[in-house]
Amino acid sequence: VTVARVGTVRLVGAGPGDPELLTLKAVRAIASADVILHDALVDRAVLAHARVGARIVEVGKRGGCASTPQAFIGQLMIREARAGFDVVRLKGGDPFVFGRGGEELDELAAAGIAVEIVPGITSGLAAPASIGIPVTHRDCAHGVALVTGHAADARDEPDWAALRASRLTVVIYMGMANAGAIAAKLARAGWLASTPVAVIARATRTDQADVVTTVGDLEPAIRAGGLASPAIIVVGEVAARAQTRETVSTAPRGLRPAAETRLARA
Ligand code: SAH
Repeated sequence: VTVARVGTVRLVGAGPGDPELLTLKAVRAIASADVILHDALVDRAVLAHARVGARIVEVGKRGGCASTPQAFIGQLMIREARAGFDVVRLKGGDPFVFGRGGEELDELAAAGIAVEIVPGITSGLAAPASIGIPVTHRDCAHGVALVTGHAADARDEPDWAALRASRLTVVIYMGMANAGAIAAKLARAGWLASTPVAVIARATRTDQADVVTTVGDLEPAIRAGGLASPAIIVVGEVAARAQTRETVSTAPRGLRPAAETRLARA
């Protein structure tokens, strides 16, 4: 009697963009996978770790168009694992930070599939770090909140007043389409118009672009800088600690020159 082998599914974080920000565990999972289902946000160089013959399927969505239904992704993973294949579900950043990793885990667990989670570096932490912004700082930020700027409906919105009262650094994902409305909500919740804000688009990629502005100037600054999604918006005193005020950088991966120079001198 032969017992059919059931494959595993690994929910793997691909990090923010720079292929060098993958974990060793992610590289190993990608290299051994039979099937890789990845988001649009995942860099080609990350997929270069796949073995010859691996099936690579893009199931991502970008800007709302041509999205793969979530139910289809779940069914595909279950089917492939039951057929004995090792599946990697590769997601930008960390799979459990606005990545629907929780939903996919539930679905796989309900189907009795073995799941391994490989955390990744989330863009909300990598983006500010790429321009020298510490999201916590003993002088001015005693914690950080990661929130969505794109709530499905008003009930799912972050409680901006509570966030204001918390005095935490606020890191906003998926906020670019609503940046003007978000700035108005921040102002209404009590943030001063002069509160520093950093916007970092395509963080850690070779075409990263960023701007440091204020709550009052957020929307015009985004427009002037030509910044677009995917981007992270960082609200709080720490944003003023950015190491460069250039609006656009084309510097290569890793630490950018301004931060590098600064660190070398320190
Ligand atoms: N799981 C991902 C987030 C997915 S939600 C993570 O942990 O990073 C998609 C949002 O992530 C985008 O709208 C944007 O706000 C942010 N994002 C992802 N990659 C980014 C990058 N390289 N630079 C800036 N923001 C990014």
